[in-house]
Amino acid sequence: MKRLAALLREHVSELAHLEAKSMGKPVSHYFDALGAASHLEHYSEAWASIQGQSSLNTPGHVTVTFRQPYGVVAVIIPWNVPLLFFFSKSAPALITGNTVVLKSSEKAPLTSARVAELIVEAGFPPGVFNILSGHGVPAGDVLAKHMDVRVLSFTGSSRTGKLLQENAAKTNLKKVVLELGGKSPALVFADANLSNAVEQTQASIQSNSGQVCMANSRIYVQKSIAEAFIEAFKTRFARVTIGDPTQSEVNHGPQADEIQYKNVTSYIEEGKKTGTLALGGQGLLESKNGFFVEPTVFLDTPEDARVMKEEIFGPVVLINTFETEEEAIRKANDTEYGLYASVFTKDISRAMRVAKALESGYVAINCTSPTTAKDLPFGGYKGSGQGREGWLYSMDNYLETKSVMIKLDDE
Ligand code: NAD
Repeated sequence: MKRLAALLREHVSELAHLEAKSMGKPVSHYFDALGAASHLEHYSEAWASIQGQSSLNTPGHVTVTFRQPYGVVAVIIPWNVPLLFFFSKSAPALITGNTVVLKSSEKAPLTSARVAELIVEAGFPPGVFNILSGHGVPAGDVLAKHMDVRVLSFTGSSRTGKLLQENAAKTNLKKVVLELGGKSPALVFADANLSNAVEQTQASIQSNSGQVCMANSRIYVQKSIAEAFIEAFKTRFARVTIGDPTQSEVNHGPQADEIQYKNVTSYIEEGKKTGTLALGGQGLLESKNGFFVEPTVFLDTPEDARVMKEEIFGPVVLINTFETEEEAIRKANDTEYGLYASVFTKDISRAMRVAKALESGYVAINCTSPTTAKDLPFGGYKGSGQGREGWLYSMDNYLETKSVMIKLDDE
């Protein structure tokens, strides 16, 4: 695992270019391979924390638990940050003694295929770490239904997550770990540091052209500062450098493919019917010969509109206002998703009250996604997932627990 981490570090530039070519991520923002290497390095040293328990609580006995691998773990990853999910799942599965069959996304297969070569070069024993390229059906579907697969770890859309859960239940009831979609709210209160809130929330929805599960795609701003916030947000959001993602000055690439582009632009057209278009949304980038979407802002969209409820997965943000803390919490929680939420305020009591009330697996205070801490659990409330991942949590997903009791002779 350490040899593979070193190979990833050696090949960062090549991997960045492969990802730019397959799904359009700007090379200037490519952190995936270094993040992947750090997962491998961490888990390569984590074996010592695989521990069972022991007790003397049962008279005449010593009892212990063993933590043991499940056997075959299947991993299915999305296209938006492929190598990060590749290793946040496979590294803990391997160090706990399982073998892995990983399927990459058909929209971004190149880095995974190249890493398959690096796995061989690093010297993994044949059959331990297996990489497939292929579409959801049949390649992913076969894994979800396979009787030899005992754990299925998935990151992707809630739609596919539900299907995988169903297929697991219909076959061998394999354990399913799901990291799914989001419609993450950011709440900006009047006492917040305005420039910090603008900078953070804009970077969150613009990063990877809005193709991030935890992007703050809904922003709720307290009415008294709404005008100032929206003006500053629009100015910043309009300033991105759009173009060929292999060029180092570009920070806003195209959507991953035509399907994603059409999906995002159809949501923009629908958004125009329900809310007020305040930035972008004009299709002005069509001459650029790529699937580019302008940074787009909608204001005053009804809370029950489809664009408010569904994941758009593009550089499109819905900004609404609120008067009271209670109203902000109610609007933020009025969703089937619950992956990430953020709160901007200088009032620590309010920050903690709101953090407690938000139905979200992650709450950031005075910062927002994609910021995360490696030793905190990551995962969703409600339709955003099932289970948690993270340096202190992921190994548990890949370990069975066996109870063993020993009778003592003379007690
Ligand atoms: P997707 O669900 O379309 O595809 C994800 C993977 O599942 C791909 O490898 C695909 O080939 C496979 N797949 C599709 N249909 C399948 C089937 N019937 N059986 C088995 N496998 C199947 O998602 P996507 O478009 O690749 O990724 C974007 C989605 O992922 C967004 O919803 C985003 O929010 C979510 N996401 C979540 C997280 C998280 O950590 N919670 C992180 C990144 C992305």
